[in-house]
Amino acid sequence: MDFKNVVAHCKEYAFVYQSSEIYDGLAAAYDYGPYGIELKNNIKEYWWKSMVQMHQNIVGLDAAIFMHPKVWKASGHVDAFNDPLIDNKDSKKRYRADQLIEGYCEKIENKIRKDVEKARKRFGDDFDEAQFRSTNGRVVERQERIDSILKRMNDSLSKEDLADVKSLIEELEIACPDSGSKNWTDVRQFNLMFSTQLGNVAGEEGKLYLRPETAQGIFTNFLNVQKSSRQKVPFGIAQIGKAFRNEIVARQFIFRMKEFEQMEMQFFVRPGTEMEWYAHWKETRLQWHKALGVPADKLRFHDHEKLAHYANAAADIEFEFPFGFRELEGIHSRTDFDLTQHQELSGKKLQYFDPELNENYVPYVVETSIGCDRMFLAQVSLALQEESVPDSKGGESTRTVMKFHPAIAPVKCAILPLLKNDEGLVKASQDLYSALKFDVNAQYDEKDAIGRRYRRQDAIGTPYCLTVDHQTLEDNTVTIRERDSLEQQRIGIDEAPAIIRDNCSVKKLFV
Ligand code: ATP
Repeated sequence: MDFKNVVAHCKEYAFVYQSSEIYDGLAAAYDYGPYGIELKNNIKEYWWKSMVQMHQNIVGLDAAIFMHPKVWKASGHVDAFNDPLIDNKDSKKRYRADQLIEGYCEKIENKIRKDVEKARKRFGDDFDEAQFRSTNGRVVERQERIDSILKRMNDSLSKEDLADVKSLIEELEIACPDSGSKNWTDVRQFNLMFSTQLGNVAGEEGKLYLRPETAQGIFTNFLNVQKSSRQKVPFGIAQIGKAFRNEIVARQFIFRMKEFEQMEMQFFVRPGTEMEWYAHWKETRLQWHKALGVPADKLRFHDHEKLAHYANAAADIEFEFPFGFRELEGIHSRTDFDLTQHQELSGKKLQYFDPELNENYVPYVVETSIGCDRMFLAQVSLALQEESVPDSKGGESTRTVMKFHPAIAPVKCAILPLLKNDEGLVKASQDLYSALKFDVNAQYDEKDAIGRRYRRQDAIGTPYCLTVDHQTLEDNTVTIRERDSLEQQRIGIDEAPAIIRDNCSVKKLFV
């Protein structure tokens, strides 16, 4: 589905709104509507259940957003959590220098893709893409150009040679996407952390940061949790919470926000065993996505070649969003970097006594970190479909449907009396709603013709509709309609709650 349609559907059907819309909005801030919050909570529940409640050696935590300022010094965020920015002097628009250069390369990549598609058509079934890419003169030349531009950019960025990054932008004659002007300022590093001020302490001393990741609350509590919950290495601490980043280039809806939610788990292991655990968590996390029904070709690993200073291995799970493959989740082997840094700056030991080895050590850490909002966007873009279905007059009509896995669907079941003015039907429907509401998020809807009500439920992804008609009053049966197959069956009214509960249970994702 087109990305514009995904965004429009999210607004029209109560999933996501622009923040402060009546004041023309605030860039990169969004609010979740009535169905959005249900979907988001269900995603979190699935994550929490699979990461915390189904592992005896992983426990939860909810740390404060504000932390001692030294935390961010120790973690490296004060000195190194930067984006290279450049301003266009004419349009006054600000960009990430690396993204301007990457955008330039993406245009070359698009030309390569066109050549590949043309060749695919020409050669038909015999076409070997890898061979074509490595032998076609024009494609090889273009690919070499991309590689050399990106290599120069990465080298300059890691050497902090920002003057060269600007030269590269000028040499490539990159123009401001807004105004077409090539009149650029110098490139500067811009720290992504938001800061605020403590009320009772003036100046730098009182400067507080809004956490840019939830992980540090886990590291600083490592010993508290280990001792008070009697965990033995290897064990994990998981947390879901808000994080804040002053993202300059706010694009792509809830993909990149200034305030977002992370679901992170830090797994503490014996030094030397981290690569095994890294491989384990990579696979386990990929499986977690697949269990929701995400097709394998929409997911891929991207192993990092250039590693952050704290990591000895890192990979992203990328998802094919409507705007291409992008990072959805990161799995990082963070070594003992964070705990050692906190140990040094706080002067407090953050070591574990391993009774089996009879020695103390600072554990190594393997992290899994996923943005809840990105996961939401991935699921919404995957679920939203338009399809042609048979209509009641024997013809065809188009319906908009969100094919969520029932376990994460915002509303599990709608209860629909055939007629709204029939007291008996209304009462039977309300009774059914009361029987269901303790177990699942159910909805009672009596307005409009039944066909329109079905369409409304399809549009928010409700897996089941239960229709109450006159036969219900005679034999205690209702019609159950399944969203994807459109199949309708009569079942006993007493059976309905168990059917809905079982088919929409998170348990379905584990068996
Ligand atoms: P990106 O390269 O896209 O900026 P990142 O590598 O900085 O992401 P991490 O620091 O690894 O991201 O954060 C872990 C996860 O948090 C990401 O995989 C992503 O799902 C989510 N995330 C990070 N930044 C944002 C943001 N600004 N808005 C929404 N989600 C985000």
